[in-house]
Amino acid sequence: MDFEKVEHYDNLEMSYISNLSGGYISKNTHVLNEIDLNKLNRFILEKSVYGTPIFKLGSGGNKILILSGVHGNELPPQIANIKLLNELVAKKINNTLFFIPFAAPKATMDNRRFFNTLDLNRAAHVNNSLSNVIVQKIEELGIHFVGDFHSTAFNSNPGVESIFSTKSPTPESFLIASYISKDVGCEIISLDSAGESYKGAVEDVCNLNGIPAITGEVLSPFSTVGDGSVERSLLQMKSFLSYFGI
Ligand SMILES: [Zn+2]
Repeated sequence: MDFEKVEHYDNLEMSYISNLSGGYISKNTHVLNEIDLNKLNRFILEKSVYGTPIFKLGSGGNKILILSGVHGNELPPQIANIKLLNELVAKKINNTLFFIPFAAPKATMDNRRFFNTLDLNRAAHVNNSLSNVIVQKIEELGIHFVGDFHSTAFNSNPGVESIFSTKSPTPESFLIASYISKDVGCEIISLDSAGESYKGAVEDVCNLNGIPAITGEVLSPFSTVGDGSVERSLLQMKSFLSYFGI
């Protein structure tokens, strides 16, 4: 996978996960209204028209992925992801951080959970589905840890701010989730074995492949941005990074 240097930023590179998933994020006014249209964010939106961009910041140390947008209508983490990238882009990072803010820009544009009729968080085990391609790239890049960030509405599953994890086969998933849940003050939901209750979550497929992963959930109505939800998601992401001393 080849990365290209992003102009004007010393430390930032980008590549594509897929060229079949592009969309005009700016058509989703709930997202557009929440982001600062600075040079970097305009660049991210432009690149998302042609597929799923992945950004790489820093080098050495742990390789860590911040993923969001696996469900296109879960907006707070997608907004938090680019806020995080904006905050970190000017800093010296002694690790290698990867950011996929919009896993499926087309689904985000349409403000839909599904990408081409597929629930990507139930399809990561299906060969060459978009979420499976994300997992393939995670392996190709040698990423060590994955945080997949979502939002959940009241009366849906899980319906509370929480961190999902598993104890087997990757006990570190549980350790990371315990750390974040204590740090930010939210619930921990832990399975004994990854992929037990349903198949194809990005987190579970990573854990089953030996890459410790967690799923963060913040409360927000679907297809819009609940009060304070972007800040809570950003807090989860920062806590995830602070587990690694970042
Ligand atoms: Zn979700």
